[in-house]
Amino acid sequence: MTSTKALLSFIRDIYQNKGPIPLHAPQFDVTEKARLMDCIDSTFVSSVGPFVDQFEKDMASYCQSSRAVATVNGTAALQAALHLAGVGRNDIVITQALTFVATCNALHFLGATAAFVDVSPISLGLCPDALQLFLTSQCGKNTKGDTVLLNTGQRIGAVVPMHTFGHPVQLDEIVAICSEWQLPLVEDAAESLGSFYRGRHTGTFGRFGALSFNGNKIITTGGGGMVLCQNSADGAHCKHVTTTAKVAHPYRFFHDEVAFNFRMPNLNAALGCAQLEKLPAYLANKRALAAQYQAFLQGSDYQFVCEPEYASSNYWLNAVICADEQQQQLLLKQSNDSGIMTRPVWELMHHLPMFKDCPRGNLGHSEWLAKRLVNLPSSVTPEVPA
Ligand SMILES: *Cc1c(COP(=O)(O)O)cnc(C)c1O
Repeated sequence: MTSTKALLSFIRDIYQNKGPIPLHAPQFDVTEKARLMDCIDSTFVSSVGPFVDQFEKDMASYCQSSRAVATVNGTAALQAALHLAGVGRNDIVITQALTFVATCNALHFLGATAAFVDVSPISLGLCPDALQLFLTSQCGKNTKGDTVLLNTGQRIGAVVPMHTFGHPVQLDEIVAICSEWQLPLVEDAAESLGSFYRGRHTGTFGRFGALSFNGNKIITTGGGGMVLCQNSADGAHCKHVTTTAKVAHPYRFFHDEVAFNFRMPNLNAALGCAQLEKLPAYLANKRALAAQYQAFLQGSDYQFVCEPEYASSNYWLNAVICADEQQQQLLLKQSNDSGIMTRPVWELMHHLPMFKDCPRGNLGHSEWLAKRLVNLPSSVTPEVPA
């Protein structure tokens, strides 16, 4: 049995640090400084500049996505993606109860309502069986052929799985269910840059995927996000609608639809270009860290959360499942008291006041996990001298 004390000293050894240890801190060096200086020297710090185009091209190429469109943050990327997928006022969007609040905020600002289904213990993300059960028991087709919530007649606008802590959901099954019910799939891949499902990058399985480059994500642009688009028409429309829908012209201001101002500034994209170059090294480091945690916790009463067998995860945030809620609370208290930042998983969405009346299926796994999950420090670790 591994005591909490042993775990905490193991973490201190890994980070070679006697001070506070954050959950996930970014790393910068001369590469980022040089790009930012380029940006300032050129005066192109804002909505026009070459780094935005480069960051989008590099990201599309890394993810093998038809097109990538940079945005001000991940929430904006999700909101734009859902809007483009046709989600609007009075629609229902099916997602998981165990997620970060941004998933729900994005769809609610389009006038839609979330419906919550359970997560799978395999991935901690949307469970295909729970999705199918929700559709067969609470949904049906209306006379127009739309899939609707039977109880209210509201149209189901999209399905939004989220790859929790970077671990890919069971995409083959979810893709099949979405196509059976003719529902657009939009992946919340905010946490899963660098995570692959059977060799293909997360965020490229649905019509759209959304990434985030917030300060705590695997790479950061300060604030930022990206919409991954799976066809070139969607890609062009996404760029248009996230940049005020201005019709290209040397000096006229003509806009042809109501649109967002979600474009990522060049300054942030400069940081993103530098960070993306480092992603492969970060991934190797984080996967090695996860293996160390896993080996250390083997046989303890903390169950380490491993990537599903079908996936290669970025291990953005390492997590353990405690034996019970009492052990969870003890680990949270002892670690935070000693300056090692650990966190419980987000409060489940249907427990938040603004989402408490949303339709939902059985959320047994989500409730069980929320009482037991704890995230452990997961920053890229200092290089161990060879
Ligand atoms: C980080 C995150 C987002 C987007 O966050 P931003 O801070 O807006 O970039 C969305 N969904 C999930 C699950 C996230 O973890």
